[in-house]
Amino acid sequence: TGKFFVGGNWKCNGTMDSVTKLVADLNDAKLENDVDVVVAPPYIYLDKVKQSLTDLIEISAQNSWVGKGGAFTGEISAEQLIDLGCKWVILGHSERRHIIGEDDQFIGKKAAYALSQNLKVIACIGEKLEEREAGKTFDVCFQQLKAFADSISDWTNVVIAYEPVWAIGTGKVATPQQAQEVHAAVRDWLKKHVSAEVASFTRIIYGGSVNGSNCAELAKQEDIDGFLVGGASLKGPEFATIVNSVT
Ligand code: 13P
Repeated sequence: TGKFFVGGNWKCNGTMDSVTKLVADLNDAKLENDVDVVVAPPYIYLDKVKQSLTDLIEISAQNSWVGKGGAFTGEISAEQLIDLGCKWVILGHSERRHIIGEDDQFIGKKAAYALSQNLKVIACIGEKLEEREAGKTFDVCFQQLKAFADSISDWTNVVIAYEPVWAIGTGKVATPQQAQEVHAAVRDWLKKHVSAEVASFTRIIYGGSVNGSNCAELAKQEDIDGFLVGGASLKGPEFATIVNSVT
């Protein structure tokens, strides 16, 4: 697999003041240089962050429109993100699936369009608690993965994020074994349904209550190639600890 990858998903958080402080803290942080580090601010702060943050950290959007821009009130297109210098977009996040109601097909279309515009994609998958308890974790993850795979032909610019819904924002992090088990299964799925090459180079990152104290054990797992961090990415020093947990 490629470089360790750590993304900070700021979600719908922040003010001009807090974003200014977070950027200053990230600029001061000592980050391992063999890690791909990306932060995803809310749209309204993207340009400010792009202008003020060290070039060592790339910028991601948290969403993008499904196609070319135009009369789509409230949406932001992949072309506009590229125009701003934004390199990445998070797609299929569970909050967009389960709170906003985006389905597999719509998310797959978004991925295809974003990649066609040279926006790199953090493709999120993950099961809900009741699905895990019903023994459906792999079924759910593979179905979401298939929707991405059906619309992706070149995987060079794709990172997969496994984010179990029950672990997001709950403080209930998956154990290293639980995460490793799904990551290995995802890699195996890629090998069977895409190619051995894609399975070996695609980064599979974990998200869900990752923090400065639990990142090191998770990072040791063979198939955990980085993290997608929510709450702890709003604190510069803690985010730096997570970035530096690369083994
Ligand atoms: P938390 O780290 O706050 O659990 O959020 C994870 C997440 O959803 C990242 O995209």
